[in-house]
Amino acid sequence: MLSVTDSVSLIPELNKAQKTALKKLEVGTIWDLLNILPRRYDDYTNCTPVGSAPINQPVTLKGTIEEIKQAPGFRRRVVMIRAKVKDDTGSLNVIWFNQPWLLQKLKPGMEIFLSGTISLRPTFGRQLSNPIWEPADDVKIAGSVAPVYPLTGAVAQKTMRELVASVIEQIEAIADPLTDRIRTDAELPTLLEAYQAIHHPSSLIHAERGRKRLAFDEFLTYRLALGSSRNDANSAGAPKVPFDESFAKKFVASLPFELTDDQKRATWASFQDLDQTIPMRRLLQGDVGSGKTIVAAFAMAMVYRSGQTAVLMAPTEILAKQHALSIRRFVTTADQVPVLLLTSSDKRLWEGGKEHKVKLQEARDRAQQGRLVVIGTHALLYRDMLPPDTALAIVDEQHRFGVAQREALSVARRPDGLVPHLLSMTATPIPRSLALTLYGDLDLSLIRTKPKGRLPIRTKVLVGTMREQAYDAIRSEVAKGHRAFIVCPLIDESDKLGVKSASEEAKRLASGPLKGLTIGLLHGKLSPPDKDGVMQSFVEGLVDILVSTTVVEVGVDVPEATVMAIEGAERFGLAQLHQLRGRVGRSDHPSSCYLMSDAEGLALDRLKVMEQTNDGFVIAEEDLKRRGEGNLLGMQQSGQVIFKAARATDLDVMVKAKDSAEKLLEDDPDLTLHQGLRKVVEKLKQTSHQE
Ligand code: ADP
Ligand code: MG
Repeated sequence: MLSVTDSVSLIPELNKAQKTALKKLEVGTIWDLLNILPRRYDDYTNCTPVGSAPINQPVTLKGTIEEIKQAPGFRRRVVMIRAKVKDDTGSLNVIWFNQPWLLQKLKPGMEIFLSGTISLRPTFGRQLSNPIWEPADDVKIAGSVAPVYPLTGAVAQKTMRELVASVIEQIEAIADPLTDRIRTDAELPTLLEAYQAIHHPSSLIHAERGRKRLAFDEFLTYRLALGSSRNDANSAGAPKVPFDESFAKKFVASLPFELTDDQKRATWASFQDLDQTIPMRRLLQGDVGSGKTIVAAFAMAMVYRSGQTAVLMAPTEILAKQHALSIRRFVTTADQVPVLLLTSSDKRLWEGGKEHKVKLQEARDRAQQGRLVVIGTHALLYRDMLPPDTALAIVDEQHRFGVAQREALSVARRPDGLVPHLLSMTATPIPRSLALTLYGDLDLSLIRTKPKGRLPIRTKVLVGTMREQAYDAIRSEVAKGHRAFIVCPLIDESDKLGVKSASEEAKRLASGPLKGLTIGLLHGKLSPPDKDGVMQSFVEGLVDILVSTTVVEVGVDVPEATVMAIEGAERFGLAQLHQLRGRVGRSDHPSSCYLMSDAEGLALDRLKVMEQTNDGFVIAEEDLKRRGEGNLLGMQQSGQVIFKAARATDLDVMVKAKDSAEKLLEDDPDLTLHQGLRKVVEKLKQTSHQE
């Protein structure tokens, strides 16, 4: 018998190479192993006929091996095994790379299950590459539904299946944080049953039932953590920021434009919250370019007016700097407001009508004196830089930070024990049901209409050589004095910072399609001063074209940029494409967005949604429908995975979890009667606060 706390080295079937592989994956205990959740399942009860199996999407087939042999590799040292597999409906080429042992295991005449994706090859026609396989008579291991695990390095898919299936059989008990009562109310299996269903399901429905149990736990824990920090914050209280009407009028009069109705409503709601001693927790949601910054600036000015400090956190240095410049412009026309910019490479203070470069220590001293506006990256604001009289904390593009960091900031206490008001701003349009779950503790303000005079961004999907159209457009825009962004996807796993993809693309363009134009390069590996330098040249027009990774995704405001071209567009989510597209169309010049791709079929259809609408909400819903699984709202970007099993489409589970959480917070707010649950919630809160 195995226990979940046992080390994986106790698993008798494991060989040395596999042990090393698991160690690399940071799988230390059986528990870690069980928490490698399947990406999907192969349903062997529901096979696609070989003759009509579709290309470019996962398929499961059953067929007989007609022939199998080693073929000459295109490079030496690459071993290729080619096979032909057929059923009554037709036959298919199959190829495996670097698995020479297959020749011993797979023989002509054998019946096997295959699972993978078929692509169309110029010479070989329809070809299934590196599929997972199971002998058709080996139902003992495969069952009728077999999990497909995420890539696990040296541990082959098949080994992983066998390993986990055998481990799960040897586990007798798993401590369950949910009481029987909660479980029965929500109609959920026990934790052990859930893991059994996930790793060794008898049907897809069975597997799904298991996954939903874990999803429930994730939503519940999350809601409880939010609820309990909100209770903490409420009982600590917040500093009051009285509403000053004559100042508000003066501020509005000083603006270069008139506020839209939505902007007015959002500001008004914030002012009412700020005037209370219960901490505000408001989410300001508005599509890219809808004008959220001015709402923030207005609130910050009001806080300063009350004799206190307001801080704003931005997710990148570029954005922090840009905010400092524009917010400073807004706030100082109506009042002489000192503004401190705090990023790791650039610290500046505007005070007494002058701009000063300052050192870290000077910045800290000034922050400690209070009564100012601070704008910075989160790293700096976390340290002991938070002014003691901070009455309002604003988080821009909050999806970038993840919930954890938002939490950390919102419970940051001032020396007097009060908790600052919190305003979160996001351009990620979240469907309401989901927003309630993720941000259920926040009040919502929406900016739905954009400022007047904005032209829709003309969007076009370009396949193959149609790319030329984008390059032509870029040339003609640059000739008019405008600028263009070209965004590249990450090309391989090892290139996390996008150095390779962006540099190679820049080189290719400079010596080919965009020869003669000035191209700047921006990727994650550049030092902050270099990043700034490139960005600044782009802002000033010294550089015509900025080739970059998705670092430009959030917030960057360069009105003269009128073309956004995105390479490998199929690799991005629609919501992310929409964010990227929002970097152009920020002036009254017409702008265009080109989505360049070599995708086919469904992937291409998905991109066409972008041609049809400029409405972020429509796009978000569409994204959710099409990519239902996986990435829950950029949670993966936040660096901390809270939702591993849960999916954005789990509305039923969300509702159940919300109900349970509310009941628990009412009946047993400190979870003294639910120690198991309390432990998980505390753990979540702690990891959040440590970031
Ligand atoms: P986002 O919501 O994406 O953060 P910004 O706050 O950066 O958008 O605003 C985008 C642009 O629109 C900025 O240049 C800003 O000055 C301008 N803007 C904001 N509000 C208005 C308005 N009411 N009328 C005209 N222009 C506005
Ligand atoms: Mg913004």
